[in-house]
Amino acid sequence: MISQIKALPAFDDNYIWSLWDEDSKTLCVVDPGDPMPVIKLIEDEKLTLDSILITHHHPDHTGGIAELTARYSCKVYGPNNPGIAGINERVAENDEFTLIGERVRVLEVPGHTLDHIAYVVSQNPKSGASTHLFCGDTLFAAGCGRLFEGTPAQMSSSLAKLTNLGPETLVYCTHEYTQANLRFALACEPGNLATHLRATQVTKQRENGQITLPTTIGLELVTNPFLRCTNQQVIESAESFAGGALADEIATFAAIRAWKDEF
Ligand code: ZN
Ligand code: FE
Repeated sequence: MISQIKALPAFDDNYIWSLWDEDSKTLCVVDPGDPMPVIKLIEDEKLTLDSILITHHHPDHTGGIAELTARYSCKVYGPNNPGIAGINERVAENDEFTLIGERVRVLEVPGHTLDHIAYVVSQNPKSGASTHLFCGDTLFAAGCGRLFEGTPAQMSSSLAKLTNLGPETLVYCTHEYTQANLRFALACEPGNLATHLRATQVTKQRENGQITLPTTIGLELVTNPFLRCTNQQVIESAESFAGGALADEIATFAAIRAWKDEF
């Protein structure tokens, strides 16, 4: 059973999420772009690396696979992309498997990249009964990933898949982008009180060197402009950036994504 979930900071603003069981000392890490923080955790806590989960092919998420699999024999779950070396368990939409005694389900969430997948960990009632979403660079706190490979329609439907998991779902993103994302969220929705309150809280957390994650689907639904493309103020802001009327929700999403790219 998962009894610990901890973020290991890597590079400038990445988090490698680590999940382990205090009793069996079994560890799983998500998107180890750098092997060193994982090796340090294994040594400090005397853990056994059981598995690695990979969300997409970018090097800041996959860079540690070679070193970790050379040192430890572990399972490496990841998308069906032959371009990622070292994956030995290729998974796709709705695949399920057991991870440290918990159920995991895979969702395909193209947009940031075409191979992007997310992992939904449904924790045992005995260990907390929470749902934990590891979504890589798809959904961020108050933002979403850049569209390097997918279309706005793909990303928008991927985000809808994630919000369908329900408001209580805990969301573990792989970058600390919250503060900058909230500045943009306020530009989209200057009248959103929940966003103002969140920005004040996040500023305090960052001043104290604290992590701003995990977030929840519920909090994202009220403050994340990329999930609020039917909100009147978001539509108006998107239209003023685009310089004209926007046909639908996807067009609004595309406009705010393009605006954020240059914000
Ligand atoms: Zn990425
Ligand atoms: Fe990344």
